[in-house]
Amino acid sequence: MRMPARFTRAIQDMAVDNAAGGRLFRAPARINIIGEHTDYNDGLVLPTATALFTWLHIFERSDRRVQVTSLNLDQVAHFSLDGIEPSAETSWIDYVRGVAAGLEGAGVRLRGANILIDSDIPLGSGLSSSAALELVSAQALLGLAGRSLPAERLAELCQSAEHRYAKVQCGIMDQYTIACARKGHALLLDCRSLQAMQVPIPGDLGFLVVDSGVRHCLPDGNYNSRADECAEALKLLAAEQPQIKSLRDLDRATLERCEPALGDVLYRRCRHLVSENERVRKAVTALQNHDARALGSLLSDCHASLRDDYEISCPEVDTLVATANSVDGVLGSRMVGGGFGGCVLVVTAADDIAGAAEQIRERYAANVGSEPWMHIVNAAGPAQEISES
Ligand code: ADP
Ligand code: MG
Repeated sequence: MRMPARFTRAIQDMAVDNAAGGRLFRAPARINIIGEHTDYNDGLVLPTATALFTWLHIFERSDRRVQVTSLNLDQVAHFSLDGIEPSAETSWIDYVRGVAAGLEGAGVRLRGANILIDSDIPLGSGLSSSAALELVSAQALLGLAGRSLPAERLAELCQSAEHRYAKVQCGIMDQYTIACARKGHALLLDCRSLQAMQVPIPGDLGFLVVDSGVRHCLPDGNYNSRADECAEALKLLAAEQPQIKSLRDLDRATLERCEPALGDVLYRRCRHLVSENERVRKAVTALQNHDARALGSLLSDCHASLRDDYEISCPEVDTLVATANSVDGVLGSRMVGGGFGGCVLVVTAADDIAGAAEQIRERYAANVGSEPWMHIVNAAGPAQEISES
């Protein structure tokens, strides 16, 4: 269990002022192998959790206040558990406040706490540090209250906290993955029915995540505007085809027929969603067949669709994808997450991953002038309490 050294030191410092020993929780990062922006359109996704963690240590207080220290941000924030409401201005503490409000709303009487948080997950880079923060907070607050809830229920509660308190209209994928992940597996999730299937990740396949170093800002940025465009497209389509209840219901033939009603931009947004749902199914088959090459080309097709049809890439990320694809052993790559920056996911045969990582590092450094942050994916289990032994 490799906790950040500064986190261990901070727990010791905090323990001096807190009577009880406290409890330790962690939640993994989420890497979406494929199925990008399909989740809030009721579609299919194929994510996995990876062994990068948001760590949380919680000490009980005797009052109903919650104090949270984020070592990542070097900030302390407080709130009261009584009468929590969304605020006009959002900040990082809203992810925790929102979860606390959701739990209280679900009938769980929470206890006040002093909470310390640190994370290995780069914030705002498409690896879902936000859902990791939500899930780890939910489990810790529940644990302190002596209660538990089913993982699926917690995922929905955390998603709703992100909608109402952080004001990001995210889908369910991040929270569901972090709540329900299984070690060594990817999760095929139908975001409408919430039917899930665990898909083993073959040991002969390697995934590498490389951070472009460029950061998006979801609440003010283009993520919600894509969700708005999808809602607009759905309205136009449903007016012509009432059986279409979400963009998930769209097939290629209907899409082509409806092109004039949609216009160029909305047509391309929809085309990304239709092709992406198809790619998710093909990617499951590729994993089942140990077909790294097929998976690689699906990732590359996904990137082209996000860049050209969904238009959420950016020049730095396109350059990184091209750099990765030029390296020996790389079978395909794509941007991951909300867009406009963040990380790139690269697929190789397992034997090629270390060599490919080294070459990408060198070429990135030559292009950008600094070393990239990188992570070799190691499919991890769900958010959970950790015994300190
Ligand atoms: P992603 O989920 O891809 O990392 P988001 O923009 O959805 O990107 O979430 C990032 C935001 O979540 C941060 O800007 C911050 O507000 C909050 N957050 C996540 N992890 C932490 C943390 N360890 N400490 C404080 N805030 C965090
Ligand atoms: Mg997020």
